[in-house]
Amino acid sequence: MSNPHKLSLTYQILYAMLAGIVFGLFLFYIPHGNWIENFIINGLLAVGGQVFLSVMKMLVVPVVFISLVCGITNLGDTKKLGRLGIKTILLYIFTTCIAISLGLAIATLLGIGTGSSLVPSTQYVPIQAPSLKEIFIGFFPTNPVDALARGDMLQIIVFSVLLGSGMSLAGSKAKQVTELFNQLNHVIMKLITMIMYVAPYGVFCLIAKLLAQEGLVLITQLLSYFLTVLLVLIIHLFFTNSILIKFFARLSPFVFFHKMYSAMLFAFSTSSSNVSIPVVLATVERRLGVHNSIASFVIPLGATINMDGTAIMQGVATVFIANAYQIDIGLSGYLMVVLTATLASIGTAGVPSVGLITLAMVLRQVGLPVEGIALIIGVDRILDMVRTAVNITGDSAIACLVAKSEKEIDLEIYNSQKIYSLPE
Ligand code: ASP
Repeated sequence: MSNPHKLSLTYQILYAMLAGIVFGLFLFYIPHGNWIENFIINGLLAVGGQVFLSVMKMLVVPVVFISLVCGITNLGDTKKLGRLGIKTILLYIFTTCIAISLGLAIATLLGIGTGSSLVPSTQYVPIQAPSLKEIFIGFFPTNPVDALARGDMLQIIVFSVLLGSGMSLAGSKAKQVTELFNQLNHVIMKLITMIMYVAPYGVFCLIAKLLAQEGLVLITQLLSYFLTVLLVLIIHLFFTNSILIKFFARLSPFVFFHKMYSAMLFAFSTSSSNVSIPVVLATVERRLGVHNSIASFVIPLGATINMDGTAIMQGVATVFIANAYQIDIGLSGYLMVVLTATLASIGTAGVPSVGLITLAMVLRQVGLPVEGIALIIGVDRILDMVRTAVNITGDSAIACLVAKSEKEIDLEIYNSQKIYSLPE
């Protein structure tokens, strides 16, 4: 029997995060010797955080593969799959465009970066971003085992969709394989449940280590940039998603945010949409009532191609860097930013700091100095956490929207007062 006084997992994660912030800042600000550095920060906290991340990462590929194959076979109709795919991708592109436009507009209105005499604090060596042609060819795996081993999300999605469609077309001849995948899906959901029990400890270690090493010093130096990104992220998170949920999906945004809360905290702590897939998938299916056939496709796809929070950072950063270097990119430059940032987000995985790579691509495209990234890199780690939470919330909102339009959402689960604790 469950203990009524036991804190729900959401609160456990929230308190662990707050405790991590306090403990991390405490370690950062107290004068400390090598032993704290070696045994606590780079010892206990590093090991705890890394083990947690590794275990979560371990689940990502099996979860996406098994759950998506099940989802596609349960979908039954291959025509439905095409409609689902087009709808989802168009909605993702649409929300990314809104996000980046909001970033550009608000940053321009506030005029951030003008008159700044910032000197790049570090060198930023850009990693070569892939070309569009490479991105497209890269969707298709030549070897599915290799794609699974590398965890290439888009290739895994393509392979799983094909395998699921094949199983579906084979009908009763593939009955046992379909059953096996369905059973594996139950097992994998149980694994997520088990691992979520240790999530509060993992979150504590990750946050405490980060703050113990970085403190808040850099934020104060880049306050205008930091606060602008934060402001736009918050506007998009609550405003754009609420409009989508309320007017397009005709569901309650309050319920949506209430139930998404712990998945958002999780994404915040791990800074990775990819690592968060298992938790987001479980949340969207079990708490928001989205059917597995929709969620298993929309969520992993969103983790890779839909990054609203990242797009916002790119919009604000472009304006900031253009102003700091006193370069006017003009209206065509802004349009180019919207286009490049949207396309760039499609080909990059949701992992920590990937936004900086796509930002390099955007800056290069509009002729701004890529070294400008060094101006903002100091506060990027913390912003990365917030934008990852925004990224996964956007994916989940679209999952609800698509599911509602396909009548594949259980409204009783969505509207129920009871929040299913992920570990059941
Ligand atoms: N960390 C983000 C994510 O995984 C991507 C980024 O903005 O760097 O969604």
